[in-house]
Amino acid sequence: MTEKQPMLLRQIPQVDALLNTQKGRELASRFSPGLLSRALRSVLNQLRQALLAGKTSLPSADALLVEAEQALNTLFESRKPVVINATGVLLHTNLGRAPMMEAAAKAAYAVGTNYSVLEYDLDTGVRGYRQQAVESLAADLLGAESALVVNNNAAAVLLMLAALARGREVIVSRGELVEIGGSFRVPEVMSQSGCQLREVGATNKTKPGDYESAIRDETAALLKVHTSNYKVVGFTQSVDLPDLSKIARRAGLPLLADLGSGALLPLSSYGLMEEPNPAEALARGADVVCFSGDKLLGGPQAGILAGKKDLIAAMKRHPLMRALRPDKMTLAALEATFMAYQDEAYAKREIPLYQMLETGVDELHRRASALRDALKDCPILETEVIPSQAQLGGGSAPGEMLASIALSIKPRGQSVDALAKRLRLGEVPVITRIQQDRVLLDLLSVREEQLSLLAQLLKAACREGD
Ligand SMILES: *Cc1c(COP(=O)(O)O)cnc(C)c1O
Repeated sequence: MTEKQPMLLRQIPQVDALLNTQKGRELASRFSPGLLSRALRSVLNQLRQALLAGKTSLPSADALLVEAEQALNTLFESRKPVVINATGVLLHTNLGRAPMMEAAAKAAYAVGTNYSVLEYDLDTGVRGYRQQAVESLAADLLGAESALVVNNNAAAVLLMLAALARGREVIVSRGELVEIGGSFRVPEVMSQSGCQLREVGATNKTKPGDYESAIRDETAALLKVHTSNYKVVGFTQSVDLPDLSKIARRAGLPLLADLGSGALLPLSSYGLMEEPNPAEALARGADVVCFSGDKLLGGPQAGILAGKKDLIAAMKRHPLMRALRPDKMTLAALEATFMAYQDEAYAKREIPLYQMLETGVDELHRRASALRDALKDCPILETEVIPSQAQLGGGSAPGEMLASIALSIKPRGQSVDALAKRLRLGEVPVITRIQQDRVLLDLLSVREEQLSLLAQLLKAACREGD
């Protein structure tokens, strides 16, 4: 600490003094004195930290108020994207997975800010079932007898097992005891649901006979889990749905399938291996399938269950259902998303994930070049447009790459980590990838409408770097 700093620390203005300036009074009438005080306390706190860390000047009262105003604007009035995802990972779980289509967000907004017919039947004027619309839409779309929506796919697996197998055994291949980031592990979810895991086969090979010989009186179901985020390669074997379905049918047991992402559209045209399609999985013999709403579906966080009517009905009746049921905004957004899938071309045009996947490499090259041009007068950032490899992420298509283009930035006079941090801490955070001493901005995951903002943020990072 320099000698000046204790003095500067003492000179930090009081919140009340700032509230009593002209700008303070203006802002207080716009946002309320309570909210403004709260924002100012946070600004002053940051200032205190900065002074302790060596900052040597005190901003003016007006500058402090402007900072608080910006924070409140971001909270209440900002129409800016929350972050720009330049990692090239399209379904980045840490960045909120799939962005929703506009119609879905608008539907959520409309029911969120109004009364709605959530549990009201307009025909009869009495209580209705809250998930009727979205569930019949999902069932239609997936060719299922019935469907059910819960908060996320982990909840779907939990409910499915609790309702159909509590106190009994569920047979799963050892090759499918998946852990999906965070804390979702198939064996643990099974034990929480009150059923016993019966592992069969080996990590790399499970054969039809392994399932058959494990079936006994205690068996309640067979479960197939999509190995979303890893691949077993080499000397491998697993039993696919049609064969499993024959085994299940002979034993009079339901066949359950956790599909993970569940792709409603084919992925091969993007150069990816197909992910399980829920309608197809049902047609191939699964009795119940479940999958996430915010992975390849491109909707809100949700878990979708679909399949045999009596099995879905048992889940609907289960006491856990009340704890796992989604809110009205999720239901509205999911309904809009399912509507979009009524027409494949419409879904590809409107759902952000598919908009991004549909963007060709030439177009990405053009966008990257425009960003490079925006930085051409920046003396401290050396830029280059390079081929890049993006990926789906979110536990989909593990290890498979999507052809993409990146703006590669080599900072002069600062480290790549410092530049990446500067971009993260800009007015709108830009999340990048660091590779071989360069900061890479992968253009596949950057929304088209964010490009001019991204150019501004890059220029700002250049100015601050001086
Ligand atoms: C992602 C995934 C889950 C968890 O889904 P959430 O929607 O994140 O709860 C469960 N099972 C599989 C196979 C998955 O890929």
